[in-house]
Amino acid sequence: MFLRRLCRRDTIKFSEKLLDRYRFPEFGNYHFYTSRAASSSQQIASDIYRSDEDEANVNWEELGFGIVPTDYMYVMKCSKEDRFSEGKLNRFGNIEMSPSAGVLNYGQGLFEGLKAYKREDGCLALFRPEENALRMQKGAERMCMPSPSVEQFVDAVKQTVLANKRWVPPPGKGSLYVRPLLIGSGPVLGLAPAPEYTFLIYASPVGTYFKEGLSPINLFVDDEFHRATPGGTGGVKTISNYAPVLKAQALAKSKGFSDVLYLDSINKRNLEEASSCNVFIVKNDVISTPTIEGTILPGITRKSIIEICPHYGYQIQERPVSVEELMDADEVFCTGTAVVIAPVGSIMYHGKRVEYRSGVETVSQKLYSALTSIQMGLVEDKMGWTVEID
Ligand SMILES: *Cc1c(COP(=O)(O)O)cnc(C)c1O
Repeated sequence: MFLRRLCRRDTIKFSEKLLDRYRFPEFGNYHFYTSRAASSSQQIASDIYRSDEDEANVNWEELGFGIVPTDYMYVMKCSKEDRFSEGKLNRFGNIEMSPSAGVLNYGQGLFEGLKAYKREDGCLALFRPEENALRMQKGAERMCMPSPSVEQFVDAVKQTVLANKRWVPPPGKGSLYVRPLLIGSGPVLGLAPAPEYTFLIYASPVGTYFKEGLSPINLFVDDEFHRATPGGTGGVKTISNYAPVLKAQALAKSKGFSDVLYLDSINKRNLEEASSCNVFIVKNDVISTPTIEGTILPGITRKSIIEICPHYGYQIQERPVSVEELMDADEVFCTGTAVVIAPVGSIMYHGKRVEYRSGVETVSQKLYSALTSIQMGLVEDKMGWTVEID
C-alpha cells in the first residue's frame, strides 16, 4: 500500500499523494471520483486538502449515536457471476437503485459495524477489521451473495476512514463508526438472488450508544417476541433481522427500558441476546455467556471479551444460560461495537425486577477499561488486534 501511516507529521505528504492519485487516475489500482458530475478534478483535490486541514464542524462533547453525514463513501459493484474487483470513493450522498432491487423487495442485504479511533499521537486505528470481513463473508454465503475478499474489505474500510478523517473525534470523545453494507442492488421480480451486488461503506462520528452514556441500562426480558429461530438467520448480520425487533424495542422503550433481552424461541427459557448486542452474566466471579448456535450473532466484542478474560484472571464459560440464572446473577453486561460494554443495572422479567451490582469495582468496568485501552492504544496490544491505518 502506498498510503503512509497517518500520523500528523505525514499529513501533508499524504495529501500530496492523494492529489497525485487523483491527477493520475491510472496510478495503482485506485481511483478517486465524485458523484457531483460538475466537479472538476481541482475541486476534488481541494476537497481532499480541506478534509485534511479543516476539523469537521461537530460538537464533540455532544456526540450520541446518530447519523452525521461525512464527506465520502466507498462503492464497489459486481454481478452475480463475478467477483468484486475495483471500488471507488464517491462524495457521500443518495444512491440510485431500481425499485425492483433485491434488497428493497426481498431484504437481500447485510451490514457490518466497526470503529476507527484517533490516538493521542494522531494515528488512526481500527479494531479487528478482518473479523468483520470474515463475518460478512459468512453472512453473504447464507444470503446467496458474492462478498469482497478480506483484503478488499479492510482496504476499503481504510480508504473510507482516511477520506473522512476530519470526522474522527479527538481521543476520548468518541470514534468514527464505519458501516459497510452488502446489498442485492440489481433488479429481480420473482424470488431469486439479485443479478448485481453493491458493497458500500459510509461513516459517521459517534459517542455513546445508549442515552444513559456509561451509566447502567435497564432491560426488559421479552418472551413474546423472538429475534431469531433455529434454522433462521439470527447468526448473521442480515438487515432483515432488525426491523422485526423494532416493535419489541418500542414497547420496551415506552415502559422506560433501554432495550429487550430475547429468550430462545423453543422453550423461552435460555437467554439469547439484546436487539443489537450480546449478553454476559457474572456469578461469584465466573463470567458466562450463551453459546453461539445459529440464533445468536457472533459479536466481535463478545469474542474479544472471551479471549481477554483469562488474561485478567476471570473464568469464562460459553454455555446455555437460563433466565433463572440471569435473575440470580451478581452482574450483567452487554457487548457490541456500538455499545462497547454496557453495564446492566436491572432487568424486568414476568413483572419481577432484579437489580445488579454496578460501579467502579465491577467485572464489566475492569473489562471495559481493558478493552478500550487496547482499542485506543493506551496499552501495548499484546493480542495483535489493532490495525493502524497506513
Ligand atoms: C452487531 C451485533 C452484535 C455485536 O457484534 P459486534 O461484532 O461485537 O459489534 C450483537 N448482536 C447483534 C444482534 C448484532 O447485530
